[in-house]
Amino acid sequence: MPKQINGQKKGSVIPNDLSDSFEEVKAFLSDEDTLHLFDDLTKVNPVTTTTVLKCLQARYAGNVFYTNAGCSLVTVNPFQPISSLYSPELMKEYHAALRPQELKPHVFAVAEQTYRNVQSQIEPVNQSIIVSGESGAGKTWTSRCLMKFYATVAASTTSPKGNEMVERIERRVLDSNPVMEAFGNACTLRNNNSSRFGKYIQLQLNRSQHLTSASIQTFLLEKTRVAYQAPCERNFHIFYQITKGATKKERAEWKLHKGANFFWLPNPEKDLEEDCFGVTRDAMFHLGIDCSTQNNIFKVLAGLLHLGNIQFSSSIDESQPCEPEDDAKGFVKTTADLLKMSAEELLETLRIRTITAGKQQQVFKKPCSRSDCETRRDCLAKVIYAKLFDWLVSVINESIYADSSTWGNFIGLLDVYGFESFPENNLEQLCINYANEKLQQHFVAHYLKAQQEEYAAEGLEWSFINYQDNQSCLDLIEGSPVSIFSLLNEECRLNRSSNVSLFQTRIEKTLSDNECISRDKFSKKPNFIISHYAGKVCYQVEGMVEKNKDPIPPELIQLLQTSQDSLLQTLFPRTEESQNHVKTQNRAAIVTVVSKFKGSLERLMQILNSTTPHYIRCIKPNADCKAMTFKKEEVLCQLEACGIVETITISAAGFPIRLSFQSFTERYEVLRKSRTSNKNTGRADENGLSPAKKKKALLDIAAAILLFLLPFAHFSVGVFFQRN
Ligand code: ATP
Ligand code: MG
Repeated sequence: MPKQINGQKKGSVIPNDLSDSFEEVKAFLSDEDTLHLFDDLTKVNPVTTTTVLKCLQARYAGNVFYTNAGCSLVTVNPFQPISSLYSPELMKEYHAALRPQELKPHVFAVAEQTYRNVQSQIEPVNQSIIVSGESGAGKTWTSRCLMKFYATVAASTTSPKGNEMVERIERRVLDSNPVMEAFGNACTLRNNNSSRFGKYIQLQLNRSQHLTSASIQTFLLEKTRVAYQAPCERNFHIFYQITKGATKKERAEWKLHKGANFFWLPNPEKDLEEDCFGVTRDAMFHLGIDCSTQNNIFKVLAGLLHLGNIQFSSSIDESQPCEPEDDAKGFVKTTADLLKMSAEELLETLRIRTITAGKQQQVFKKPCSRSDCETRRDCLAKVIYAKLFDWLVSVINESIYADSSTWGNFIGLLDVYGFESFPENNLEQLCINYANEKLQQHFVAHYLKAQQEEYAAEGLEWSFINYQDNQSCLDLIEGSPVSIFSLLNEECRLNRSSNVSLFQTRIEKTLSDNECISRDKFSKKPNFIISHYAGKVCYQVEGMVEKNKDPIPPELIQLLQTSQDSLLQTLFPRTEESQNHVKTQNRAAIVTVVSKFKGSLERLMQILNSTTPHYIRCIKPNADCKAMTFKKEEVLCQLEACGIVETITISAAGFPIRLSFQSFTERYEVLRKSRTSNKNTGRADENGLSPAKKKKALLDIAAAILLFLLPFAHFSVGVFFQRN
């Protein structure tokens, strides 16, 4: 999208005779002193990225963090707690208001409107609130605020399951947050409490608008973090919580002696935990996870930390399995003890690959190289952690779920990772950015519809013939018959040793018709660039096919099935079906990461499409997470990335200037009089206009002329008069 200066394309020439009045016209259109008064960005005149940016900045400086943008709400993170902004009193104020949307823009206004929509039963009755923004922008914070709001205004009147001892549903819904965050969040370079998974929570309301049941769906946990943390980043919070919060007795039991070093526990000195372990444990308890199950979970997690300390040395003889380093033998033993399995079998599984081949299903054993041993070790940790996470989600779901006879309609809250672009991007970013493309398409469709409806209500005829949506980008990623996903899946299905350069050439040749794909020709590494709606992202091809396969050696599952630990037995049951699955896994069609992700996203989109959507766009005003600091360039990038610029573009493609009938008549009354008098008398001055009024009228005319003359990039020019 070309950058704009007040709606004017860079480098365009303003006719000389008009340039003098240009500044004044600009001032008239977007009076900077009053910009902060605009509660809705699409009502700033004219609607351009510059005026919108200035408006947000002015509001932020005045401690106003919420602004509407058409059908969405923009929040700018203050990075400091402002208790009055989220007080129960304020919640009540929004809840009690006659028209909450007429109060100041706030997350509670969205929450209340959504709640009322359910009550008013206007189709579609089910609602969803889609919270988006980049890492650290405040999505999880906002989702928590929304959950607190509903837990307050929709508190259930009956005690759950007829048992006073069981925590009330709204309490349990709120308690799911610290548990999910302990196991699914981590400190990253961008955010000390970064969610490493996507989450959609559905809050079920009964006929009396009380919260009776809830369910959580998660997406794409970043499980690699268990075994690999980028420099200066950390593992999931829970590992630090147990190492810091365990009692002396627990330490001894989990072999977490003070001062012990773990490779998979980097940067422990960052003190982010306070008493988080206590909070997590309490919340788990309220969700029905008793103390002994909790201890079991933490023991397994301690086992993973010891597993990470098993290092291998390169074997000189390729035909011999590579040996663990001397001091690693102790870690093998401790890991095996904590995971309740045989130390010999653990070591053998890490060092020796079992291959079943031929018609007779002969079994061959092949020693692994050092890097293979490490891959198998990491894979073991990832598979345990991912299963544990899924199991926790299912336990939470059981705890917050009530049978469907109590349901009426629902409000869904979506907190997903925002658009990502790093110096190196791989399959994870491709999936995340694909999800954002899907949500953006959903948003644009909804926004266009809302705007069309507004124009129809005003009796205006309009069709958005010039607007380009992001369908071709989605076709490129997921379309049929060929797309990046289909090519990746085919590569996995053929199961041939992957040649990165060949695969890159294939992508380039097969998909060259799509205008959204290109390549960084200056990079030495095979890559492809996708032009997303939020900007271009360069993806590395190396490792992508392997990540898509996400192979789990069957021996690892078999090993886990030998464990005597009750939690591991739950996570990896030894059913006949699972045994057969292990045997046939090599031959079975692989369900790839992108196929699974696409499937879960499609199901989510179906749910979203059946609801009335509300959008909250969170903006991070500075990369350093500094309190009350607004960096224009950074905000602008996010406005582009989170679709606000799209909203603005669409607004501008419609009628970029909106005036109420009242202000229109006040402003242009003078022209009407002037025309009348010209017609009648031919002498304008006889109207008795003051010089100031005359000047303003002339300026208005100049503004109108300028608007038509200025070569607006692709904004069509028009004025939309609103009834109120
Ligand atoms: P990620 O994508 O990494 O999960 P996120 O968008 O979920 O990021 P949050 O964790 O919600 O970001 O917010 C980051 C931090 O910003 C919070 O830990 C909190 O300190 C601060 N923050 C966010 N919103 C607000 C707010 N409304 N008021 C005060 N502080 C806030
Ligand atoms: Mg988050």
